[in-house]
Amino acid sequence: MDVAIVGSGPNGLAAGVVLARAGLRVELFEAAGEIGGGARSARLFDSDVLHDVCSAVHPMAAASRFFREFDLGARGVELVRPAVSYAHPLDGAPAGLAFADLERTCERLGADGARWRALMGPLVRSSDAIVDAVISDQRRLPADPVALARFGLGALVHGSRLGGRVFRGRQAPAMLAGVAAHAIGRLPALPGGGISLLLGHLAHAKGGWPVPLGGSQRIANAMADDLAAHGGTVHTGHRVTDIRELARARAVLLDVSPRGVLGMAGRFLDDGYRRALESYRYGPGVSKVDFLVSEPIPWTDPGVADAGTVHLGGDRESLYASENAVVRGKHAEDPVVLLSEPMVADPTRGLPGKRPVWAYCHVPNGSGLDATEVITRQIERFAPGFSDTVLASRSVPASELAAYNPNYVGGDIASGAISLRQLAARPVARWDPFRVPLSGVYLCSAATPPGPGVHGLGGYYAAKRVLRTEFGRALPALGPVA
Ligand SMILES: Cc1cc2nc3c(=O)[nH]c(=O)nc-3n(C[C@H](O)[C@H](O)[C@H](O)COP(=O)(O)OP(=O)(O)OC[C@H]3O[C@@H](n4cnc5c(N)ncnc54)[C@H](O)[C@@H]3O)c2cc1C
Repeated sequence: MDVAIVGSGPNGLAAGVVLARAGLRVELFEAAGEIGGGARSARLFDSDVLHDVCSAVHPMAAASRFFREFDLGARGVELVRPAVSYAHPLDGAPAGLAFADLERTCERLGADGARWRALMGPLVRSSDAIVDAVISDQRRLPADPVALARFGLGALVHGSRLGGRVFRGRQAPAMLAGVAAHAIGRLPALPGGGISLLLGHLAHAKGGWPVPLGGSQRIANAMADDLAAHGGTVHTGHRVTDIRELARARAVLLDVSPRGVLGMAGRFLDDGYRRALESYRYGPGVSKVDFLVSEPIPWTDPGVADAGTVHLGGDRESLYASENAVVRGKHAEDPVVLLSEPMVADPTRGLPGKRPVWAYCHVPNGSGLDATEVITRQIERFAPGFSDTVLASRSVPASELAAYNPNYVGGDIASGAISLRQLAARPVARWDPFRVPLSGVYLCSAATPPGPGVHGLGGYYAAKRVLRTEFGRALPALGPVA
């Protein structure tokens, strides 16, 4: 074996694809019984209904440089787009709706429409350049510095109290805050401001935020198929506990958290690196609830029914307060809930009378809270009658997420807090953040640049380094073989 990879999340699989395509003999070891990490789907309650266990909505996969080259569409993975990328219901007011069509969004925002257009329009027009600069290995000059500067300025404004002065109505500020909440951290803050513009502009670019027809697992399976087609082998049900198990490989890539690195290799690391990994911070957790429901969610504002993703947290200030309480280690009374009803875009996920609903809320790291009641209450707030449609539900508290996937320490689905420091130095402050100071060993998980999300880029960038440094080979073509 030339290369051993530990972990079959999107990053481990992306690394495998790149390295196998370069002609190397790749073996991948996955602790779970199935491949995919955070991109797995399962029939939780009913054989007719498919649920995404972790990731569900894929603007990052649609935009990422790795997946653009890999070409999911040509592998039979259809990314389907709802008319509304995300909705943000409000008490006693129309919901904010981020249509895939920027102009429709602006029309609905009334007086704030022109301001929304001025913020998002230029980002949408330079989308590839912005995505390639922001979700990158952060070690090269941007192709379009002007577009990146515009993005940076917007992130500064909307990542601070200045953002409060831009809009007049309730919808636009709440919409940006709901997207910023994907950073699962203090708000307003620069990381949240950056994420609100990154994901926010993708809501209007390339057709909007997609879900994969047939579930997130299809993305993982497409990569595993490509790996197998190029001679790679996957061993499921194989948890690597000691890095010496992989001594036969010339290079080792770890799609694991820094805590995972410490567990399997801690005693072989130099003191400085080990201490840096030990002081790596994990962020708040999520408490996940999957529902099986009989009807589409009865939203008070019917426009929300066209949205693939819904952010529940109310107006900007109350949403900020909930997020900040969680950062301080408290359970928010009205926690921010992220919800997806995939059948809005993908009818194959269930049947009439049997539909999946995916939801989670933010909680302190390690919380044992069963969020079924609190999430149901937040949905009922904007969709009275929802609980009458629930046929079954399943809760996975933050404290139990790591049993499903050890990378989610204490339920932190980002594999590390998304702070300014940990965006600039992820996981450690080194020129090459992928390199573990052991011969031929690299980290490639969401704990490396560019951070969390199903984009495969941690794996892609780590694999590029492995090819160049360990094997003296160039990056191969990644598109489908004719
Ligand atoms: C509830 C939830 C919702 C999410 N929603 C979205 C979303 O909608 N869109 C989005 O883009 N992202 C979402 N994410 C985040 C996304 O899933 C992750 O950022 C992404 O999967 C990270 O990919 P990865 O390859 O770094 O690691 P992971 O996908 O976490 O995979 C790591 C793999 O390594 C394996 N592993 C770890 N240690 C070992 C070991 N010692 N031996 C063998 N195997 C090991 C694990 O079992 C796992 O399969 C969500 C995550 C969760 C949990």
